[in-house]
Amino acid sequence: MPTTRILAIHAHPDDVEILAGGTMALLADLGHVLTIATFTAGDCGSHDLGPEQIAAVRKGEAARSAARIGATYVCLGLHDLAIFNDDASRRLVVEALRKARPQVVVTSSPVDYLCDHEAASALVRDACFAAPAPNYNTGAADASPPLAAIPYLYWMDPVAGEDRDGLPVAPDFIVNVQDTFVRKRDMLAEHASQREWLRQHHGTDDYLDAMERWTRARGERAGFSHGEGFRQYRGHPYPQTPVLQQLLGNLAVRG
Ligand SMILES: [Zn+2]
Repeated sequence: MPTTRILAIHAHPDDVEILAGGTMALLADLGHVLTIATFTAGDCGSHDLGPEQIAAVRKGEAARSAARIGATYVCLGLHDLAIFNDDASRRLVVEALRKARPQVVVTSSPVDYLCDHEAASALVRDACFAAPAPNYNTGAADASPPLAAIPYLYWMDPVAGEDRDGLPVAPDFIVNVQDTFVRKRDMLAEHASQREWLRQHHGTDDYLDAMERWTRARGERAGFSHGEGFRQYRGHPYPQTPVLQQLLGNLAVRG
């Protein structure tokens, strides 16, 4: 398999780790070039620090997490609970795509419990469509050239694998992340501020354990000890070849 450029992009720091960290570690081991991007720096994720202070902390955590698998971390600079599918945000995402230049994009589920996750999903879908169009100008001072083609687009599972009504959202395929689960856990552990925030805001102290229960549950569905689920977006005219499944070979099985 030739080296592939892969962008994992989700709303907030730690979303990629929870939903796709093991798969990203596998792809890193296979020699692919990874970028992890978040729309926000998670500026609402603290009880004690102001938005700018916690954003700085969380960008550092996200960068250290990405570095554990040799990935580059990028933050788009939007704010929590303020991701909207509008013109300015679409141009921002297109510029991020043109800078990362991915052939494969993995993003948030279009149905999820949180508005930011759903808005991010729609923005990435539409930015993938716009990124190759030469006349679509992002307005960036250091604008990058258009992509050669629409990237292969995938969705991660929604959080807990459910839509807003609690109905299950079935993955197309599940990736066996048994061999990279320890690294997935180490990546998530870099987000130390979030463990503390959830302990105070949600009253629970099982940040890492909740991720492990979820990863085990997703794996169980395919007979693995640990798994992560994905769906491929196949709307016209997005490319249809199951490239990510082919990169992962027999580590990916039908969900
Ligand atoms: Zn999130």
